[in-house]
Amino acid sequence: MLVTGAGGFIGHHLVKRLKADGYWVRAVDLKYPEYEASPADEFEILDLRRWDNCLMATRNGIDEVYSLAADMGGIGYITAFHAAIARNNTLINAHMLEASRQNGVTRYLFSSSACVYAQSKQLDADVTPLREEDAFPAQPEPGYGWEKLYAEELCRYYCHDYNFESRIVRFHNVYGPLGTYDGGKEKAPAALSRKVALASDGDEIEVWGDGKQTRSFMYVDDCIEGLVRIMASNYHDALNLGTEELVTIDQLVDMVCEAAGKRLSKRHNLQGPQGVRGRNSDNARLRNVLNWEPAISLRQGLRRTYSWIEEELRKAGRIATPTKAAVSGKQAVA
Ligand code: NAD
Repeated sequence: MLVTGAGGFIGHHLVKRLKADGYWVRAVDLKYPEYEASPADEFEILDLRRWDNCLMATRNGIDEVYSLAADMGGIGYITAFHAAIARNNTLINAHMLEASRQNGVTRYLFSSSACVYAQSKQLDADVTPLREEDAFPAQPEPGYGWEKLYAEELCRYYCHDYNFESRIVRFHNVYGPLGTYDGGKEKAPAALSRKVALASDGDEIEVWGDGKQTRSFMYVDDCIEGLVRIMASNYHDALNLGTEELVTIDQLVDMVCEAAGKRLSKRHNLQGPQGVRGRNSDNARLRNVLNWEPAISLRQGLRRTYSWIEEELRKAGRIATPTKAAVSGKQAVA
């Protein structure tokens, strides 16, 4: 098995899962995982924008490729860097697909995104959940979304012209422990968890947009389970992988505060990037194909994510270690 993007959030979790399932795994990325060592059998630092590196990554009898490498980040990052993101990801995906074909890979899973969906279908916070066919007529997010949609099409062409076995997964906002929570590439659940962890009870935190924009969020364990199941399925076309639990960003903030046991007020920054107004996954096709769908609730997933981020900030000396009294008080509540 090959996992690209294995130094990143989802890729690292996937390598752990594949190793636990007993597979031999080659991992590739520009960097090692940030928060713990990878259990991969081989970890190679390769820039997959380069054709020769893609040939190297897929050499020596790799059966299945999970193609997760991408230049990406949260809404702030993907709205700021259209040219670099589109160019980098175009190179990675075109070269990885062809190198996989030439090296005899038997199955190739491409990680796409809900950013491929037509923006005109996401203008209302009370959005109709997006079905796979809602990606056309094409009107995806600039840069990142256009590139993902084009790479999906490439997979379909390879499937049609070469009988190349591809899988296309459209993630909807994945979050969880071991994900980036600082530095500009973090996504909303991690960014909000960091802000809440660094705030004192009664403080105010900044929230991008008016807080009424909506999204659904999927906990990383569900994401990994879905990836493995989709790879094993016989379904070639795009599938949503997300939850149907729609929340406003304000509700998300409240849930993080609840996980932290803090009461904070929100300062809405209307200039902050907020992306489409509303986005939710329609899982009908996923249920139909897999007879399964993500089940971990947002409240449950956020509790685990918040605890991990709080602990990381504590280890980094950015928040004070709690007193014995506070710890026992917390345990009594839990
Ligand atoms: P991530 O940024 O943590 O991981 C992506 C990894 O790709 C990074 O470690 C990065 O170093 C690596 N990479 C970037 N350019 C590379 C290059 N030229 N060569 C080799 N490696 C390179 O992101 P993630 O959240 O783990 O996302 C994994 C995949 O899922 C990506 O394709 C992403 O577009 C997709 N996705 C994620 C989400 C989400 O909510 N996390 C949503 C939609 C789609």
